[in-house]
Amino acid sequence: MLSTEKIIDAMSEQGLRITDQRKTLAKLFGEHSGYLSAKDVYEFMGKKYSGLSFDTVYRNLRVMQELGVLEQIVFEDGVKFKASCSEDHHHHHMICLQCEKTYPISFCPVSMADTPDEFQVVKHKFEVFGYCKDCRQPADAGLSVNPLSGHTGEH
Ligand SMILES: [Zn+2]
Ligand SMILES: [Zn+2]
Ligand SMILES: [Zn+2]
Repeated sequence: MLSTEKIIDAMSEQGLRITDQRKTLAKLFGEHSGYLSAKDVYEFMGKKYSGLSFDTVYRNLRVMQELGVLEQIVFEDGVKFKASCSEDHHHHHMICLQCEKTYPISFCPVSMADTPDEFQVVKHKFEVFGYCKDCRQPADAGLSVNPLSGHTGEH
C-alpha cells in the first residue's frame, strides 16, 4: 500500500496542487489499511474542515482515483476507496468481506476472455470476495456466528 508520502509525491508529480485538504486525505489513506466510503471520508474531513461540502470531498476522491493513488472497489453496500498497492506489476485482489483485508493475486482473467477482434480493451476490473482465514467460519460453527447473517433480508 502507498504511504502518505508516496501518495503526496504521486499527486504532485502529476501536477495536482497539494492543498492542506489533499494532504489530510493522503494521510488518512496512507495510514488506513482498510476501505473507506466517501461518507466515511466526508465525516472524517468534516471534523477538521468545517463547512466542507460532500461534493468537494467526493471530487478529490475521484481525482485521486484517476491519478492512481486510490483504488476504488464496488462492495455490495457501495463504492469504497483505499490507497493503491505499492506493487507495480499487474495484479488483482482478493478481498475479505469481513475485515476488508486485501490479498494480491497474480491471475489475470483478461487473457482468457474471448474479446472480439474489433473491441479495444482499455481497462478491466477483477476482484474476488470472500473470507480470510481469521474471518472464515469454522465448518462446525453454529448459525449464530455466520458472518452473512447480518446481511440477510436486505436484498
Ligand atoms: Zn494490489
Ligand atoms: Zn478477514
Ligand atoms: Zn488483469
